[in-house]
Amino acid sequence: MTWVLDLDGVIWLGDAPIPGAAEAVGRLRKAGHSVLFTTNNSVPTVAEYVKKLSKIGIAASHTEIVTSAQAAATIVPAGETALVAGGEGLIEALSNKRVEVIGAHQFTDHPDGYLDDPRRTKVRYVIVGWHSYYGVASVAVAASSVKDGALLIGTNDDASYPTPGLHLPGSGAIISAVSVMSGSEPVFAGKPHDPIVTLLSPRLSGDDTVIGDRPSTDGMLARKIGARFGLVLSGVTSSFGDLHPRDPKPDLVAASLFDLVVAET
Ligand SMILES: [Mg+2]
Repeated sequence: MTWVLDLDGVIWLGDAPIPGAAEAVGRLRKAGHSVLFTTNNSVPTVAEYVKKLSKIGIAASHTEIVTSAQAAATIVPAGETALVAGGEGLIEALSNKRVEVIGAHQFTDHPDGYLDDPRRTKVRYVIVGWHSYYGVASVAVAASSVKDGALLIGTNDDASYPTPGLHLPGSGAIISAVSVMSGSEPVFAGKPHDPIVTLLSPRLSGDDTVIGDRPSTDGMLARKIGARFGLVLSGVTSSFGDLHPRDPKPDLVAASLFDLVVAET
């Protein structure tokens, strides 16, 4: 069986590991299951994910990490030029596909500089993910190329970015700003949308379980790939009262990944 594990809210919350997560992964592997770590957070690089997992006692290979950044990169053909308002993970995924990347971060202080950039006329794809420099400059630069005809790709439509304190706007909120300003609807790449489903499909066993804290992304992904959905209450969903009537009903519910794995293995 393949277990598709979300990261934020399942393995860790921000930088704090969720108790028992490493033991749970060890237990799954010991029982002969394959594990994939699948996240909509497109900011870290794959090597950063491997390192962060290793620090909390989970050994993972690069091929076990599947991100919305990689999914977004599958939409852009090699040799194209893309404007990226996003983090390092997105730049890495596109560069690996031999896409020429212009980072919107270069224009944070001088958005008008984008108008004079000679590469601007080649931009046929604008990819927007979560970025720490989000603001009027990154939205203005991204929206300008979409208005000129580039395809708007969003890494994921998560509304919020959970932190132990005040939640931050998620990629969905950031992409909405570019979408509203340019008048174009985005194509989404991450969970539960088709590009990441296509990326995951060859890696599944046909008897799979998706574990996540967000029914609208993790639960919908499970439905799309025909997997069981295990909801954990260690992230954005802390009780059944948080579930929206539109959300897919979980097949399994537990306080944490550890509790769920202990019950199932
Ligand atoms: Mg999550």
